[in-house]
Amino acid sequence: MLHTVGADPAHASRSDMMLAVAQVARAQLSERWVHTQREEARHKARRVVYLSMEFLMGRTMSNALAALNLTEGAAAGALQHAQNLEDLTNCEPDAALGNGGLGRLAACFLDSMATLGLPSFGYGIRYEYGMFAQDIQNGCQVEYPDSWLKDGTPWEFPRAELTYPVRFGGWVAHEDGKVIWKHAGEVAAKAYDMVVPGHGTHKVSTLRLWKAVAPDHIDLGAFNTGDYARAASAKNEYENISWVLYPNDSTLAGRELRLKQEYFFVAASMQDLIKRHLHEHHTLDNLAEHVAIHLNDTHPAIGVAELMRILCDEHSMHWDRAWALCGSTFSYTNHTLMPEALESWPVSLVQHVLPRHLEIIFRINKEFLDQAARLCPGDHDFLKRLSLIDETGERRVRMAHLCVVGSHRINGVSALHSDLLVHTIFADFAKLWPHRFTNMTNGVTPRRWLAQSNPGLSRLLDVSLGPDWRLDLDQLKRLKEHQGDAAFRAQFRAIKRENKVRLAKLIQQTTGVVVSPDSLFDVQVKRIHEYKRQLLNLLHVVTRYKAILADPQAAWVPRTVIFAGKAASSYVSAKSIIRLIHDVGLTINNDPRIGDKLKLVFIPNYGVSLAEIIMPGADLSEQISTAGTEASGTGNMKLALNGALTIGTDDGANIEIRQQVGDENIFIFGLNTAEVRHLRITGYQPLNHYENNPTLKAVLDAIGEGEFSPDEPGRYSALVNSLVWGGDHYLLLADYASYVATQAQVDDLYRQPDQWSQRAIANVAGMGVFSSDRTIGEYARQIWHVGPAAY
Ligand SMILES: *Cc1c(COP(=O)(O)O)cnc(C)c1O
Repeated sequence: MLHTVGADPAHASRSDMMLAVAQVARAQLSERWVHTQREEARHKARRVVYLSMEFLMGRTMSNALAALNLTEGAAAGALQHAQNLEDLTNCEPDAALGNGGLGRLAACFLDSMATLGLPSFGYGIRYEYGMFAQDIQNGCQVEYPDSWLKDGTPWEFPRAELTYPVRFGGWVAHEDGKVIWKHAGEVAAKAYDMVVPGHGTHKVSTLRLWKAVAPDHIDLGAFNTGDYARAASAKNEYENISWVLYPNDSTLAGRELRLKQEYFFVAASMQDLIKRHLHEHHTLDNLAEHVAIHLNDTHPAIGVAELMRILCDEHSMHWDRAWALCGSTFSYTNHTLMPEALESWPVSLVQHVLPRHLEIIFRINKEFLDQAARLCPGDHDFLKRLSLIDETGERRVRMAHLCVVGSHRINGVSALHSDLLVHTIFADFAKLWPHRFTNMTNGVTPRRWLAQSNPGLSRLLDVSLGPDWRLDLDQLKRLKEHQGDAAFRAQFRAIKRENKVRLAKLIQQTTGVVVSPDSLFDVQVKRIHEYKRQLLNLLHVVTRYKAILADPQAAWVPRTVIFAGKAASSYVSAKSIIRLIHDVGLTINNDPRIGDKLKLVFIPNYGVSLAEIIMPGADLSEQISTAGTEASGTGNMKLALNGALTIGTDDGANIEIRQQVGDENIFIFGLNTAEVRHLRITGYQPLNHYENNPTLKAVLDAIGEGEFSPDEPGRYSALVNSLVWGGDHYLLLADYASYVATQAQVDDLYRQPDQWSQRAIANVAGMGVFSSDRTIGEYARQIWHVGPAAY
């Protein structure tokens, strides 16, 4: 402490203590990192490069201590200074460099790549401000900047020697066969590493994040003449590239700065991997043999054009050879089918920011369309649909098409999603290249989402199964042997109750609402989005509220309905849903006729660390997206892994969860994907549901006419009208009756605690395949062709 933190141990604060513990871990991480790099270089290992705009890492300390086998030592050390380790870990801010599932998936993947010993780098942006912090004021979401770096972080390793120039703008000169990009601006990308330790191995993975820094020469003139304000503003113009994460989820941010961010981190990462490759192999001819570059969604798609530019313009490689090399290097994961989320950039903007890349994209497109025309001569519509350029209206570059054309493998993230990909948005490409399309069902790391977040259940698993489940989650299957043991079920139930007590405390601290751990904890936590249908959940809550009032003496199963999640700052209806949750909550929670029979809470500022407390305390997991809209979901996996039963639609990975746990251990309701499609084609009439279902009508009228917002009765009329009169795009009214009936089945089962526990145990037992180790193993074998380095 004295030596590393500069604090007197006798007067050390909690955060001093936290830093002291972090320094010990950091030293060992550093050693492991150096060793891993040295060995991988010595073996000229084939590596994975995972390009992602987002890494939703959460806290580092507990995970690092567990991986380094330092948890017990650190806890004992903390106790000597009258601190407990949990309080210390809670001092650390989350690294929230992502919006939701996509960013969290990247974080789980790094953990699994390290644990499986795959030589690997994650590359992204070191945002100064990550995902905004959410506060609730008068029921409304208010956003605050997330200055996670304000006190510095002990977990990053700045690499002062590693900076690369990234160029923008200008024009392209073609001089006797040579292409020269006469760029207009340049910014430096500076590397900061986070070391991701593997579990049960000394191998580590590297998360290398780039910070934008103005080149040294920037406006030295202004600085020298004492005009510091001008010097600073010139500097800011460059450095704003890595300032802030775009707080969007499933909608396109159409901003020049966003395009610059994408190119910025891709260009720096490419230079880094090429430097490493040339250092080991002295030629780029064999690049594809030694590196697999993965595109996490289309955000890094420009990498395809960038690699072509480097190979052709900077290394004089012949176009055809370069293109073949590209095709065997890249692979791409699609994360959404929703048209509004498919990234496309105006041609004029790409021309302005990346003129050479636009030329390259046009050439890729021309050669691709020529090839496609040879296969399907005369079919102009087909070619128009395939084109990398959308010619309807303002011409735009379709980034997903660039990814598909430039990759040898394209995958979806659940069986259903991958199937829909080849039948909907990529149907034309699948006709050309059926073998390129495959599925990689998502997973989550059992280290964070069970071992770290649920110590109680982990201890029970250790006693019943031994400790190997952490590295081999299929071991959970063996829980079936214990399911019939009443004493085991009682222990399981006691653990769940402890976790609910912990969650109830958090709810009281953050919302002021007192909830009973004996009530059924009904949890929907995820980004707030219309397709995820938090509003359908709320319709059920209001239905239940009215039913309790109508028959207060009935044997109601007490429920606590728990929401958490952020809405994109510009997403008006999502924010309105947050407000409605609060308005309904105020009414219900303060209605003396209701008491403990029903509570409704919204826990503010959802993020990884909050999820680690919520998941273990859940009884019921709400996964109720309109069938065909949720690509996979990973929240569904975390909740089931912690013993929650799912109520959900036949969507995303819910389908595979159902297969694993069995029909009797999950509550599936509503229309399936085929029925949704059919209903939309034949003409969906939400008004019919409204008029023919008096319960539904009463609920919608109550909300729409201001029963929960008496101070402003029209507050939710737009929201309700969008359902009844506005087409109800996500089919809430169509699924309402089935949902409410299924919730009654949930109650029936919860009345039999021992039955409920048995099913909950079956859920945990079935979750083995949803380890991200299984997912990464599949990527490694089937897409990347990398294996653990042999040392
Ligand atoms: C797992 C996770 C998500 C993804 O949740 P879904 O329910 O799959 O949308 C989002 N945010 C955080 C913080 C998570 O941990």
